[in-house]
Amino acid sequence: MPTPSNATSPSWGDVLWIDTGSVNVYLCRDGDGFTLIDAAMPGKADLIFARLAEFGGQPGDLKRIIITHADMDHAGSAAALQARSGATVYAGAATAALLAEGRSPRHMPPPVQFILDHFVRYKAVDRAALRPMSEGDALPVLGGLRVLAAPGHTLEQHALYSPTAGVLFAGDALNTRDGRLQTTPPRITADRAAAEHTAARLLQLSPVVIACGHGAPLVDNPAMIADLLARLPG
Ligand SMILES: [Zn+2]
Repeated sequence: MPTPSNATSPSWGDVLWIDTGSVNVYLCRDGDGFTLIDAAMPGKADLIFARLAEFGGQPGDLKRIIITHADMDHAGSAAALQARSGATVYAGAATAALLAEGRSPRHMPPPVQFILDHFVRYKAVDRAALRPMSEGDALPVLGGLRVLAAPGHTLEQHALYSPTAGVLFAGDALNTRDGRLQTTPPRITADRAAAEHTAARLLQLSPVVIACGHGAPLVDNPAMIADLLARLPG
């Protein structure tokens, strides 16, 4: 069973948790190199490469960057990380289209959305580096990383699950803000019913580690998973 290795650089086997301040990203270590799940806010490439070095990798060892959804706090440093590493960037089709333009998906309250649509861009990812992924794909990461459609927070989002490692990368489908396992907050949710369906589906995998975008990862806590499942409809 995965256990945190220490307090400053928590990892579970071949998965390293990086708290970038406002959002978590995760590094996965495999025989052929490393995979980054999500890419944090703009300006975080140096921090992520420093953590990669501590985990045993050079920039060129970063082979894959997987983006759960195109919000700026998950995609902001993707272009910089890709340019320095040469990594392939995996994303759903709609997410990839946004990454190629440095744009954010539509799911925020109207005043915030207006600002995002008109004034806020992050650096666009090189189209040649983008590879589409979709529900049912298995990526060569952590013994086979299953791609799961996880709509709700945004109309397109993907979660990733490694049955071998027992780790679920939930993006913003689940969070542990306030120390409690929760679904995406309603005010920033594109489709509430889809979000609840997604949360239930992911929790039914009974992951050992829920590696979420916000809040500390939930480790070996079936009681908290059962508690949230009981609060979800159907
Ligand atoms: Zn988000």
